[in-house]
Amino acid sequence: MSISYIGKTIKASPTLALNEKAAILREKGDPVIHLGGGEPKTRAPIDAIIAAGGLLGTGELRYTPADGIPALKKAIIRYTEEFYGRKVAPENVIASGGAKQSIMVALQAILNPQEEILYPAPYWVSYPEMAKLCGSTGVAVIPEDGTFYPRLKDLEQRVGSYTRAIIINSPNNPSGAMYSEQFIAEIVEYCERKDIYLIMDDIYHRLIFDGKKPINPYAYTKKPVDESKLVIINGVSKQYAMTGFRIGWAVASKKLISVMTNIQGHQTSGPSVLCQMAAAAAINGLQSSVESLRVTLENNRNVMLEMLKAFEGVKVTKPDGTFYCFADFRPYNKNSMQLSQFLIDKVLVLTMPGIEFGLEGYLRLSYCGSIKDITEGIERMKWALDPNSPNELYIGNRKLVRDWL
Ligand code: PMP
Repeated sequence: MSISYIGKTIKASPTLALNEKAAILREKGDPVIHLGGGEPKTRAPIDAIIAAGGLLGTGELRYTPADGIPALKKAIIRYTEEFYGRKVAPENVIASGGAKQSIMVALQAILNPQEEILYPAPYWVSYPEMAKLCGSTGVAVIPEDGTFYPRLKDLEQRVGSYTRAIIINSPNNPSGAMYSEQFIAEIVEYCERKDIYLIMDDIYHRLIFDGKKPINPYAYTKKPVDESKLVIINGVSKQYAMTGFRIGWAVASKKLISVMTNIQGHQTSGPSVLCQMAAAAAINGLQSSVESLRVTLENNRNVMLEMLKAFEGVKVTKPDGTFYCFADFRPYNKNSMQLSQFLIDKVLVLTMPGIEFGLEGYLRLSYCGSIKDITEGIERMKWALDPNSPNELYIGNRKLVRDWL
């Protein structure tokens, strides 16, 4: 069978594949603990549910403009003013099927085949594949000082004549690291000077801890939005626990947004009107659910960090935000895929292998689940990996026996 070159180069999403494995085991009745997840477990805000329910009740759900309905754009404009200090026009906004689609159409609008995008490692698994979908190349830049906090000089060294954009995701999936104001200021100034696009993937920007406040990249440019190559990506998936609604957005110059709209118009048309209405209601509605989710995640992070102290030699950088931490498990196994497979096979704990995020030897552990999942998951991992563990472990009434060293 003949398959296109791009088709052949795209990898299956490893996170989705592992999620599927866990779902199959769960269906069989196995007590799987999911430390691999990428979504909050709370309910969608009540305003979103009411808005979607009301519209569904009318039975009239129609096509929407390719770039989103005016009500959602209005909500995004208000959000942009509140968090980014800029008053933008509806033509500066596109709503898409998740932040994922906003990033994808932005890249399709920016990149020619053979051109490059840069992003610091560890990075979100989809960036390299999205670059490939454009016939382009994603270049991961590993901070030379071994931290999760990139420095401008690391990125600068990799910028060449083919570089069209830099993607910055802060706080970061998978490390939870929130980059400093100084770094954001430098990268905004640098991209402006080099005349390359800066895509800020801000999807976790309100889920931050220890009294930190979201950083506004527009604070570091005097350029009007329409003259700037800054692209802000955001969405309702994480902050409002609305992953299944599939609504994200981009804010950028009118020129770029109009090209993105043309692309999206032929790709999927506008996102589902039901979900757009729900997203608008969440953005305009009571914001207490965001704060309560944030507080829960901060507490979960603290519990996970405490539990991880049980692993000798495992280094963890304290996450500043998100619901992930990225722990260095090289003292136990240098091959992260092997380690993830081992943990799901032996103790039914799902983790994400670091190699998929560009750093081998690490595991991404999510703390978006319950405290019980976190504590029991880490306890099972400890039992599996510590050679001094007792020979048997009970999960409910199921007995696990160590048949490995
Ligand atoms: N960016 C990052 C860094 C993410 O982790 C995710 C979700 N895993 C997305 C973008 C996409 O979010 P969505 O498409 O659900 O809005």
